Amino acid sequence: MPKERVGEQVFVFLSEAYAQVTSTVILTNRGSVVVDSLLYPSEAEEVRAFATRGSRQVAYLINTHGHLDHVACNYLYPDAAIVAHSGVRDAMRGVLRSDLGQAAESIPELRGAKMRPPNITSSGEVVLRHGGLTLRLIPLPGHSPDGMGVYVEEERILVAGDAVLPVPHFVAGDPDDLVRSLQRIRTLALNTIIQGHGDVILKGEVKDAIDYRLRYIKQVRRHVRDGVAAGATVREALHADIEAYGGSRLDLDGLTQQLHEDNVRYLHQYYERAALDPVA
Ligand SMILES: [Zn+2]
Repeated sequence: MPKERVGEQVFVFLSEAYAQVTSTVILTNRGSVVVDSLLYPSEAEEVRAFATRGSRQVAYLINTHGHLDHVACNYLYPDAAIVAHSGVRDAMRGVLRSDLGQAAESIPELRGAKMRPPNITSSGEVVLRHGGLTLRLIPLPGHSPDGMGVYVEEERILVAGDAVLPVPHFVAGDPDDLVRSLQRIRTLALNTIIQGHGDVILKGEVKDAIDYRLRYIKQVRRHVRDGVAAGATVREALHADIEAYGGSRLDLDGLTQQLHEDNVRYLHQYYERAALDPVA
């Protein structure tokens, strides 16, 4: 699996098996911190081997949000304290159980997987000081209500989870929340953003990358809202593909176009309902 060093002590792994989902390892002299545990156990094992080399322990595993591709392999870290938004614990004790069973039908290596929910949870900001580093867990809802970013202060690196993706995705969350989260990210001193999926965003690209995502949300909302007002069907609203918004159909192995289509369907339904019920 490709591994990139993005800071003095920070390394990111990019999945080849599922949608370039990322897992981040922060090495400290008091053990490692891992952010997100991946979907495929064989890949997660590779990350764990790196995080535990030289008799190091994984002190903390942090989950950025409660979607299966970020939490499925938590069980491979039985001795780590797992930290996340309280919503992640709820999801893992509820709906994600059947998601895991379903995923195991098409991914045989997941058959031995067990849910390991976080044991340290919060719905607000958490500051974790560990091995000389300050890790600030910042709520970043919008892609999902339980989003948390991990800001490594000393390195000016944000592990953003799916709050930052090549195409913003808000159908399991809320576009207004996502706008606020992206605006919050803009206020941080940043050298690097590690996205939940896809390439690392480097210094010099950070501001433009956030602005692009904010612009995308604004434009897709306006486009679908105006379309619904003019009687456009979902198919018509889908006519403008991700490239019409300055994105690439090829990003994340074609998944970005899919994310965009999800957004359009979500918004089309939202504005149709709003038109039927103007009070809402
Ligand atoms: Zn994801």
